[in-house]
Amino acid sequence: PLHGKVALVTGSTSGLGLAIARMLATNGADVALNGFAAQSKIDDITRSIFEGTRRRAKHFAHDLSDIAEASGLVAAVTAELGKVDILVNNAGAQHLAAIDEFSDEQWQRLLAINLTAAFATTRAVWPQMKERGWGRIVNTASTLAFTAETRKSAYVATKHGILGLTREVALEGAQLGITCNAVCPAWVLTPLVAKQVEAKAAELQYSFEEAARNYFLTDMPTRRFVETDEIAAGVLYLCSEAAKSITGIALPIDGGSLVV
Ligand code: NAD
Repeated sequence: PLHGKVALVTGSTSGLGLAIARMLATNGADVALNGFAAQSKIDDITRSIFEGTRRRAKHFAHDLSDIAEASGLVAAVTAELGKVDILVNNAGAQHLAAIDEFSDEQWQRLLAINLTAAFATTRAVWPQMKERGWGRIVNTASTLAFTAETRKSAYVATKHGILGLTREVALEGAQLGITCNAVCPAWVLTPLVAKQVEAKAAELQYSFEEAARNYFLTDMPTRRFVETDEIAAGVLYLCSEAAKSITGIALPIDGGSLVV
């Protein structure tokens, strides 16, 4: 269904972004990957996407903590792959610290990667989506766009912020054929979360499984981690033709977390 489309997925060398890029390519889109990893891993990813889907897959190393690089990413992808029809702002960073121990540097870093970069890529892609009268923008928010957790002030602020941006972009795109939505995952066992589970396990001298069961999965009525492909399937739907009237929403994919 996405044949002829080009999708840019930020933060797609790992975790959710990688699953999203694979899912979009499997459904016919050429994909621009972005994010950090060893060159050998990046080569493996681009090769396996190409071999599995026969779609073009190219990696762009732009560092999204810099607003100029975030804007430049769209121009680079357009130069290499011709256009950007689908933009998935997924790159994200986490930092845990109590408010009075949260450094300027970490605050600015999370704001830049989790929020400012999404604005910069959206602004950069806008003229071409507007000209074609078609565009799909999906932002990876979180259940923490609705709730909060201690020691995550910057993360929670950026995830609430990205929902505001999502709604704004949805309004401005409504008559231009551009939709903008957010997906809101609860816990998915990616490297970003594994680090938090490991830290909890070390703190309490628990095994990884005990820490996961007692401190993370208790948030989720389903008592299991959400899988990366469940998030990717949500993104695929929001990018489809069938979802053309869905805009400005926040789609929880969260095992019922927001219910309790
Ligand atoms: P991850 O750590 O596995 O992946 C993060 C990706 O972002 C990597 O590809 C990394 O290289 C990239 N990245 C980080 N800083 C970057 C920068 N400065 N420039 C470019 N790329 C950069 O994490 P993940 O869990 O897959 O997270 C993806 C998104 O999902 C994030 O926005 C995160 O907040 C959100 N999320 C994750 C969960 C979860 O449980 N894993 C839950 C809710 C929301």
